[in-house]
Amino acid sequence: MATQQPMQCPLVINGREMEATGGRRFSRENPANVNQVVTEAAEATAEDMRNAIHASRRAFDTNTESWVTNYKLRERVLFKAGELIRQNAERLADVVRLEVGMPARQAAVHVSAAADVFEFYAGFASKMYGETMFLPTGSQVNLVKEPIGVVGLITPWNFPLTQTARKVAPALAAGCTVVLKPASYTPMAGYELVRILHEAGVPKGVINFISGPGSTVGDELVRSSSVDKISFTGETGTGKSIAAQAANEIKRVSLELGGKAPYVVFEDADFEGASRAAIFGMFRNAGQACGATTRLLIQESIHDAFLEHVVRLGRTLQVGDPADQATDMGPMISRNQERTVMDYIKFGQDAGFDLVLGGNKLQGGDFDNGYFVEPTIFANVDNSSKLGQEEIFGPVIAVMSFKDEEEAIHLSNDVPFGLVAGVWSGDHARTLRVARQIKAGTVWIRDNYQQPAEGIWGGFKESGMGRELGPYGMDDFMEVKQIFTDGTGLAMKPAYRQVIKE
Ligand code: NAP
Repeated sequence: MATQQPMQCPLVINGREMEATGGRRFSRENPANVNQVVTEAAEATAEDMRNAIHASRRAFDTNTESWVTNYKLRERVLFKAGELIRQNAERLADVVRLEVGMPARQAAVHVSAAADVFEFYAGFASKMYGETMFLPTGSQVNLVKEPIGVVGLITPWNFPLTQTARKVAPALAAGCTVVLKPASYTPMAGYELVRILHEAGVPKGVINFISGPGSTVGDELVRSSSVDKISFTGETGTGKSIAAQAANEIKRVSLELGGKAPYVVFEDADFEGASRAAIFGMFRNAGQACGATTRLLIQESIHDAFLEHVVRLGRTLQVGDPADQATDMGPMISRNQERTVMDYIKFGQDAGFDLVLGGNKLQGGDFDNGYFVEPTIFANVDNSSKLGQEEIFGPVIAVMSFKDEEEAIHLSNDVPFGLVAGVWSGDHARTLRVARQIKAGTVWIRDNYQQPAEGIWGGFKESGMGRELGPYGMDDFMEVKQIFTDGTGLAMKPAYRQVIKE
């Protein structure tokens, strides 16, 4: 892939690629090498967003090319999109690597996971069965599922293909039409998916793509009375303001927000497996992950030995150029994020927690061109401190010890978030007991950070509402309607006597 020239990211409205009204553009630099502009994107205006919403509305209301009713068309388009993602895997992985700074090995898996999601939901398009029941009177209740309508999908930058696929694929499978607004750090990844969907045969106007600032075009999407639902992934603060805005017109909203995941390791854990699972969850995508293992909870009796094991493994991680197949951890997404992460590290040091790994910004040579921070682990962290409570979104891990099951569960739940958690113990009954008491949308037992398309993703508490992936992911884009049909043939039904005497 030619990486010298910036990739060009237009808007897509009603099947046409175009520049923004007024011609403004913004650029995205490579976070591993800030001297390289990787994407130049159209910076949409509120007017462009209104045009995109209008195109989406018209496509839905006119049932363009039978999109809303012909599930076989939707099934074909989604399967084809999955196939095209696989055919373009190398190029897509490059786009993700360049915009996010995600190491090449991780970007390749990320692309294949996005294809999985399209293929999974392709099968669902033809399985939107409802339910039927005959009442004792002989009348019939039909419960049918219908697409919600026009949906606004607002996505984050950290896993730009899969986060987008999890919304776009079920929305399209259900027969909705879409306006997609990607994060401004990663416009190209979203555009590539929309381009692939058009190549796969999606009718004009069914999916529209608008890059530009969340505060203007994102806000326009949320406020529009022509949009039936917003599905948002991002920070809890942004999610709260979107939910408040949508409440004005009872617009449907689903929210995938922040996390502060615990990983609980009991004394009977297999050190080799548990330490690898922990490191994988901590430092994947440099900890810029809502489901990252941010708190490692180790039982007192094995605390020192297990921590030593984890630190030894952490030291082997290679931080550097995401293009290098040997690189395990890339840069932070931006200067701001690097600063935020370094501020948390300083807080940890000032608070007197034990810095047992890393703690520095990487400097010298190529590191000076990017936002690189060492994998960092603090031990003996107080769970009630900022390091225990707040989402850092970087490679900074808080380690705590616990005495028994009860304390492990208490610490796990003692945060505002409830997205994911992990438990490692050789005692099957114990893992189940603990998993049931942790308040999180997903609990991994003897594994970490697995997200099959067949499962679910979504959080308790301030981690959000609604569920993505799996069959539940379809529910977010469908309304259930009751169609009641008289089966009595009576002109004067018993219920009418409440109002009419004869
Ligand atoms: P963010 O700042 O909240 O932005 C997310 C998206 O919202 C971006 O497209 C952004 O556009 C847009 N946006 C910002 N302000 C808006 C507004 N007022 N109205 C409408 N849209 C608006 O989050 P982020 O920094 O991209 O992502 C990191 C966060 O996402 C973390 O907190 C992480 O935990 C969370 N996350 C959650 C999940 C999950 O599944 N639970 C998954 C991944 C990430 P701009 O980019 O143009 O500002």
